[in-house]
Amino acid sequence: MGISDTTLWIVILVGLGVFIGGTYRWRVRIMMHQQAELMRLVRERTQQLEEANRKLAQISYLDAVTEVSNRRSFEEELTMEWRRSTRTGSRLSLLMIDIDNFKAFNDTAGHQAGDECLKKVAAVIDEGVRRAGDVVSRYGGEEFAVLLPDTDLNGAGALAERIRAAVEERNVFHPATQKAVTVSIGVATASGRDDGEPSQLVRAADAALYRAKREGRNLVRISESAAV
Ligand code: GH3
Ligand code: MG
Ligand code: MG
Repeated sequence: MGISDTTLWIVILVGLGVFIGGTYRWRVRIMMHQQAELMRLVRERTQQLEEANRKLAQISYLDAVTEVSNRRSFEEELTMEWRRSTRTGSRLSLLMIDIDNFKAFNDTAGHQAGDECLKKVAAVIDEGVRRAGDVVSRYGGEEFAVLLPDTDLNGAGALAERIRAAVEERNVFHPATQKAVTVSIGVATASGRDDGEPSQLVRAADAALYRAKREGRNLVRISESAAV
């Protein structure tokens, strides 16, 4: 019994259908696989980019010599904490720390030794500050700023005295004075409810610092303008 033409055509058509369908599914699978691979690549590259950005951001906020926060980071933190303190009515304190007779240190021992001294002093300050929100920054050449959120004048003064003593006890030899390197510290506190400006806090701490210098160095002085 021979196969009729009609049956043959049906077999051919069904075969063709199965072939086309199979090829289509196969193509779709390949495309889906390629898409998944592409998505994986995009995710991987995005992750790498994010990581690089994080590192870059970190570097741009750190002082290269001392590895504490830099001036730019300080300005941002100060603005943020100032706003927070006026919003919540909490106190915000600031220590301005300046190494005593540092020019003479550099002139006697050279800038490399000066930089080593800066690193040691920065490390002592950083170790002395323990609360999570406290920020130690290098404000300028041999000046450091310590921002203390939620800290009143008494607390800030006590911390300043601890830091002053710790720097002296670290006993970094000063080649010009032939004694231990020391710092002078000015302390100021913002009362939180003022509608002033963050720069007032810096100015008040700075004025106290210069009083410490005038009155003999290796001293802590508290700002006289109680409510900055
Ligand atoms: P005072 O006790 O009154 O603070 O005296 P001082 O000599 O510390 O202060 P002055 O402002 O006269 O000098 C600061 C010196 O700090 C000038 C410069 O020799 C030194 N200095 C500033 N920036 C750097 C720095 O990045 N590295 C080094 N090694 N020295 C610096
Ligand atoms: Mg100095
Ligand atoms: Mg100075």
